Amino acid sequence: MWDVVGQDRVISLLQRSLEAESLAHAYLLVGPAHVGKMTLALNLAEAVNCEGVESPCGECASCLRIADGKHADVQVIDLGSTNGNSAESESRVKISVEQIEQIQHSASLPPFEGRCKVFILDGAELLSIGAANRLLKTLEEPSGKVVFVLLTVNDKLLPATIVSRCQRVELAPLGTAEVETALTERWGAEPDKAKLLSRLANGCLGWAVSAARDEQLLQQRAETLERLLDITEAGYEARFQYVSQLASRFSQNRTAVREILDLWLEWWHDLLLVKVGCVDAVTNIDRSTQLVSVAAGYTLNQIRAFIDNIQAAVEQLQLNANPQLALEVLMLSIPGKAESRTRHPIRGK
Ligand SMILES: [Zn+2]
Repeated sequence: MWDVVGQDRVISLLQRSLEAESLAHAYLLVGPAHVGKMTLALNLAEAVNCEGVESPCGECASCLRIADGKHADVQVIDLGSTNGNSAESESRVKISVEQIEQIQHSASLPPFEGRCKVFILDGAELLSIGAANRLLKTLEEPSGKVVFVLLTVNDKLLPATIVSRCQRVELAPLGTAEVETALTERWGAEPDKAKLLSRLANGCLGWAVSAARDEQLLQQRAETLERLLDITEAGYEARFQYVSQLASRFSQNRTAVREILDLWLEWWHDLLLVKVGCVDAVTNIDRSTQLVSVAAGYTLNQIRAFIDNIQAAVEQLQLNANPQLALEVLMLSIPGKAESRTRHPIRGK
């Protein structure tokens, strides 16, 4: 029983490989955040170690221990996982050589309680160059009882040598209807809430499920959006203060800043949809009236140009540009309202 929703093609591929005992030595799961990469990776770890009849059964001792994160042969490695002190892991922006050395050592030992060791590398794009080189060595010398599963939001940020050693598996975002159905049928969400969350989730069911369980997520989202709208109207001083906050946050938690920028992108994309007359297609369906009134203040070209600028900032941050600089450039490019320009024509001309 696979827990991943809406990835039937990927599941049948893995299922066939399992049955033919022809699993790859390393997989690279590519897809946006919260689309189900970790769920799939853990399912695969369960499948190769399952003691039930139909693997992964989700019920045997092995499957349960993996789901609880207690199985000795299944290890998740990410920025936060370390044996060192937590202050070090918080400030770390790359997966280190030491972390990969630990894996190498562990991979050289036989499985402890299961049939196969599984190493899941979450955020593989964050491997340092040294760590990637170390990992490459391990991937080049496959062992029968070890499977590597690398998870990434963007495989272009990984060294080509690593990508070429893995079987690439892409997890596409789910359709809105698919998310909505899964929310009501599997997680028992109220129909109205399921409808809103399925839009806001952008095809990433994991986020929608978390938001259905935890009211705070929607609340936080609303607050971030309000802040965003304030900043759009604010003067340069307030914008630069906001940049400083974001930049210092970026040094501790890249994902959080990425999520804020995604929200910006989504909002401006909605404004674009409103501008071209597609109000029904917006993501923020709970704010469609507000979107219509905000969109009236901008021209289509202004909206398009600012969307390009947000995308450019996201890319630069991924490529390790100076966050303060990249975000300042973005804040300077917030368009002025077309409305206010006509109300206050430039004097002296
Ligand atoms: Zn099982």
